[in-house]
Amino acid sequence: MTEFKISWWEPTDRERQWLRRYTSSDKHKCTATGSYCNAKFELGEADILYTDSGYISGDRDNRKPPESDPRWPIVCDACGRPFGADDPYQLFGKQIYVCEATGARSTLDKVPVGACWDAWWISERRKDGPTGCGHNVGPDHRSLVVKLPGNRDWQIDSRASNCTKPDDGDHFCWVRHGRPEDGTLHVGKDGNTCSAGAGSIAVPGFHGFLHHGILRDC
Ligand SMILES: [Zn+2]
Ligand SMILES: [Zn+2]
Ligand SMILES: [Zn+2]
Repeated sequence: MTEFKISWWEPTDRERQWLRRYTSSDKHKCTATGSYCNAKFELGEADILYTDSGYISGDRDNRKPPESDPRWPIVCDACGRPFGADDPYQLFGKQIYVCEATGARSTLDKVPVGACWDAWWISERRKDGPTGCGHNVGPDHRSLVVKLPGNRDWQIDSRASNCTKPDDGDHFCWVRHGRPEDGTLHVGKDGNTCSAGAGSIAVPGFHGFLHHGILRDC
């Protein structure tokens, strides 16, 4: 039996940045990955710039170094194919989160199993509206996500793929109680729910429950 304690992660105003080159997949397939050719050079951290409406600005074009900068990748990380002059030069960024209990900092693709955060880009605009799986927000108007083994993200407040009430958006396929901040987060079927499953989560390589702040396989 494997157990993972739930840890709570808060967003920061900082992002990790990379100099990225890639090719679009309709023009070219990477011989190593079958996807597009891709390469990144890690630059470090910077302040996040937000749009007027509060979202993270994806447009970093006026902040990137010139194309002559030697830190831009020359070849694909996977297959070694050289990039062409027309392939994009992208300043790529990911928001950094901090674990309040330990002070650890990470981007969401690298947080440990059991890490929990609020997908604020979903929940922020839904603080006053209805709750339920059709709205992707839980009873506290947050949209909680838990990191599972295999780097899968479990959106607890979303609709389960085997939901038995597909026409109803106000129930919770997974009913959650407690709070991730204090170790009491608990997910089950105790409340306004449907008949899908028993409150467990199944992804390739993992099936388990989140009970009383502990994610446990079964
Ligand atoms: Zn490639
Ligand atoms: Zn359901
Ligand atoms: Zn099982």
